[in-house]
Amino acid sequence: MESKVLGVLGGGQLGRMLVEEANRLNIKTVILDADNSPAKQISNSTEHIIGSFKNSEDIELLASKCDVLTIEIEHVDVSTLEKVAAKYPNLQIHPSPKTIGLIKDKYLQKLHLINHGIKVAESLEIKENTNEALAAVGQEFSYPFLLKSRTEAYDGRGNFVVHNSTEIDEALKFLNNRPLYAEKFAPFVKELAVMIIKEQNGSVKSFPVVETIHNENICHTCFAPARVSQKEIDSAKELALQTVSAFPGCGIFGVEMFLLADGQVLINEIAPRPHNSGHYTIDACVVSQFEAHLRAVMGLPIPELGFVTGNTAAIMLNVLGDNNVAGKELEQCAKTLEIEGGSVYLYGKESKPKRKLGHINIVSDSMASCENKLRYITGETENVSS
Ligand code: ATP
Ligand code: MG
Ligand code: MG
Repeated sequence: MESKVLGVLGGGQLGRMLVEEANRLNIKTVILDADNSPAKQISNSTEHIIGSFKNSEDIELLASKCDVLTIEIEHVDVSTLEKVAAKYPNLQIHPSPKTIGLIKDKYLQKLHLINHGIKVAESLEIKENTNEALAAVGQEFSYPFLLKSRTEAYDGRGNFVVHNSTEIDEALKFLNNRPLYAEKFAPFVKELAVMIIKEQNGSVKSFPVVETIHNENICHTCFAPARVSQKEIDSAKELALQTVSAFPGCGIFGVEMFLLADGQVLINEIAPRPHNSGHYTIDACVVSQFEAHLRAVMGLPIPELGFVTGNTAAIMLNVLGDNNVAGKELEQCAKTLEIEGGSVYLYGKESKPKRKLGHINIVSDSMASCENKLRYITGETENVSS
């Protein structure tokens, strides 16, 4: 299909699912990550690099072996990507290092969005991590507000909700010496997300808008399409398309949003890569988020994106490591296999409490039917047809 070699910075579950699609299209991939990382487990090339996407020498070695570079995580060494772009003029890097740099620092990301007239939760830079600086934020935003790490954030691990001034010390201790910013609390009624693909010619296309439910900051379930009005779906889609258009370069982007009670939609954050909220596309859509990303970065055509005919609804449930008994989380996977329209994806990772070990997709011809199947999988009902 494509003779160009694709290098991937990061070999976690997103890299693994990208490699699955690349294998299907005969696209050769080279992975940079630790030995036996999830993506490497399913690709037997001798070219893979054992190392880190944060290490300059490792990235340079990867660049020397590939025609196109992409990422499965934004926390990469951007200055080295810029260096190899200058060193190898024919090397393509998607998404562009500039975009990765703007997004991986969540405060720079906010400023960029604001400069492009995109609605976000109001934010303030924290210049010094002191009690006084945070008390001043409390004065300006009132409580609660969010204290967030600008960098290295995922699954809410860089966030602290400050409910009142007595929690400031605890917040500073939790986020230690990380670079911080503060965000006004968004009183959302739902969280929405949408995957947007940006092609090399700059055109943007949207997958369906979905609704995400987070438990303790970790994405738990995803309902596609979102169970909100058509008007709210249209506003979210329009905002997400506008958001991704504001960044240079191509590839897939995950756009996380807050839906407020008055129907307004705000951007929470964006990810310049495949995203947890897009996993349902593997079964629900003809072209998955991973294949769409591959097609974009390899310069292949991308048609309109949407549900497979007949499947009008989908639910994705993350398989998180059980808190008490390692492996207990597999019980829901076993139940999924009994169900028409249910599929299980396991990432080859060791079970640890709350770790994302896999996901379950349920597709059907109605949301009510998907919800019924979900209740069976989670043990809320004993009979899937009841
Ligand atoms: P991810 O794994 O999605 O990258 P993250 O660590 O970058 O997560 P955020 O997306 O900033 O974290 O926040 C995690 C969750 O915390 C959000 O999905 C939302 O539920 C809640 N949250 C974040 N910011 C706000 C806010 N300003 N107001 C209200 N809730 C918020
Ligand atoms: Mg994030
Ligand atoms: Mg998030």
